[in-house]
Amino acid sequence: MYKKDFFEEVFKTELTEISWSKNIKIPAYFTKKIKKTQFEEGIKRLKNFFLPKQVHGDEVLELDRFLEVFSVEADAVITRKSLFVGVRTADCVPILIATEDGSLIGAVHAGWKGSLKKILQKTIKKVKTFGYKPEEIFIAIGPHIRECCYEVKSDLIELLKKTFPDNYENFLHFRNRSTFLSLLKLNLFQVQSESIPLENVWILESCTCCNLEYASFRRDKSLEAFQLSFIGLTEKDPC
Ligand SMILES: [Zn+2]
Repeated sequence: MYKKDFFEEVFKTELTEISWSKNIKIPAYFTKKIKKTQFEEGIKRLKNFFLPKQVHGDEVLELDRFLEVFSVEADAVITRKSLFVGVRTADCVPILIATEDGSLIGAVHAGWKGSLKKILQKTIKKVKTFGYKPEEIFIAIGPHIRECCYEVKSDLIELLKKTFPDNYENFLHFRNRSTFLSLLKLNLFQVQSESIPLENVWILESCTCCNLEYASFRRDKSLEAFQLSFIGLTEKDPC
């Protein structure tokens, strides 16, 4: 089983390990900035490590066996197999999912498009089809562009209004005649809409745009670096 130090050596970056509540033992990490070239070298060294080809859609892939990295288009992936699954982001919201009994994991890529398409809510609904109750589902929200930096224009605000006509203003923040969007609030609303208690949610409080240790597409205007967020199920110990 890979450990934190190993991943740090593979990707040449620092990792934050999620400390799940309720004594869940599933390893899950949010990295700091990874250079694309380092990622391409590193990923070759990992087995059973799946990442979807992200397309800013709302497709939730259920993985029942290992598939090649980037071989399927999806922006969320869940599995009950002994695999690592993850997503890549550089301002968008990375979200990892675990169940209390340690039998299902998931990874979600939610930028503004995915958040408006309610990809997190769709993923949670899919997890529930396996019989998990809301209080048995745990969520970790990783580094992304926060409302301090995420200024949005009228076209996006109109789309937000259309999707959330009753409460769209709750996700916006107004400052100096500019409007800022909270992707965090937008995704927490989806968590609460599925009745998952907020104490099951772990949040990494960092803005990718403010903090130079992270890659930010808006700040850097480059796809040469990004964050990786991933989670792994391990083989059950025979006993
Ligand atoms: Zn910021």
